[in-house]
Amino acid sequence: MNIEAVEILIVGAGPAGSVAAALLRQQGRQVLVIEREQFPRFSIGESLLPQSMAYLEQAGMLQAVVEAGFQFKNGAAFMRNGRYTDFDFRDKHSAGWGTTYQVQRADFDHILAREAERFGAEVRYRHEVLNIELGTGGAPALITVKGADGVQYQVNAGFILDASGFGRVLPRLLDLETPSNFPVRGAIFTHVEDGIHGGGFDRTKIRVTVHPEHCDVWFWTIPFAGGRCSLGVVAETSFLDRYQGSATERLRAIIAEEASLSALLENANWDTPARQIVGYSANVDKLWGEGYALLGNAGEFLDPVFSSGVTIAFKSASLAAAVLERQFAGEQVDWQADFGAPLRKGVDTFRAFVESWYAGGFQTIIFHEKQQPEVKRMISAILAGYAWDLSNPFVKETSRRLAALEAVCAQG
Ligand code: FAD
Repeated sequence: MNIEAVEILIVGAGPAGSVAAALLRQQGRQVLVIEREQFPRFSIGESLLPQSMAYLEQAGMLQAVVEAGFQFKNGAAFMRNGRYTDFDFRDKHSAGWGTTYQVQRADFDHILAREAERFGAEVRYRHEVLNIELGTGGAPALITVKGADGVQYQVNAGFILDASGFGRVLPRLLDLETPSNFPVRGAIFTHVEDGIHGGGFDRTKIRVTVHPEHCDVWFWTIPFAGGRCSLGVVAETSFLDRYQGSATERLRAIIAEEASLSALLENANWDTPARQIVGYSANVDKLWGEGYALLGNAGEFLDPVFSSGVTIAFKSASLAAAVLERQFAGEQVDWQADFGAPLRKGVDTFRAFVESWYAGGFQTIIFHEKQQPEVKRMISAILAGYAWDLSNPFVKETSRRLAALEAVCAQG
């Protein structure tokens, strides 16, 4: 069999894969992206964080995203038992972008993949990576791919970036998966024509609404341009399993338990069948090895509550591309120091926030009546995705700071 040879093979053309491909092409590397689906294809994960804009800019993709006309976003709002609080991301501790977009991922991901192609990456849609045999001692890896016509072929690659998302190709093949510390949660979600009129609803912010009785059950409302919204509920699977019927019926039944959300959606047209995804939180014992690195969700996925997934995916692509640039220039590189450790730092910041959210502490903080402006700006920066900015005390000592603030808020 004739075996093709490429410098870098990327598995998956989601946000991580496309941004990595564009960055590497701009370094002059030869890049082949293998993508299982035909684009545009549906994906969940629609509310971006302002930090992600810096990576789109770095990859040369910002103009294409801006010109697509997605819904402008400047913050996050939270609602619990009729109590409302919000964060404006332009008012934040860290320097950098304070605004971003809420995007239909089918369109957004397609734009990024086309941008990667514009920079010269080859993207093969409806091709699936079936197997990877890593090389040792500098030998290339051997990748087995099933083509769109069902015929298998093989590729030799000098380096592999696994950006396969929940496909988690290398974690499965190399047995790198470790259990997530979070309980098994799921989400039921859909898109609706929302029918929300009037000034009471801020379309420039994601709204996170807490269930009136269960503080670990929450809903997202992500407005899109054109009068549509993404809606979803997140809960432990044992909670979701209590509801009968189709995914749409179950989602509607759970939403009916929350008065403000029911009122907001009273004129909604439920024109799209809901979907369910369960057990998405995942972890690995290492993010890189000889000849490969894991990007985005192929590495670790925490939880959707702070909309951090795409930002982490971009960050991983940016860090990996920088290390590869030096590696291909013949420099000695340290993947742990320059990729694994810095990536984990921001992920761990978000992890502490997610843990605090579900334990109730973060909710005590944000719904507290008196908010200190400087502290609010520090939290706003993290909610905006600046989870790697060590000048922010809530990045430097996340758990300790959150616990101390929760204790102060709980006292009244
Ligand atoms: P993906 O976007 O999953 O892309 C991976 C690609 O790899 C896919 O196109 C897939 O087809 C391809 N692939 C898989 N296996 C193979 C194979 N064997 N061969 C070839 N191709 C393959 N994030 C946010 O930023 N904001 C949000 O509001 C948000 N909400 C979320 C809500 C829920 C319920 C969930 C579960 C997640 C949410 N996320 C959110 C997370 C977000 O969806 C992901 O973090 C993000 O899509 C990760 O991007 P990625 O490039 O790593 O992977």
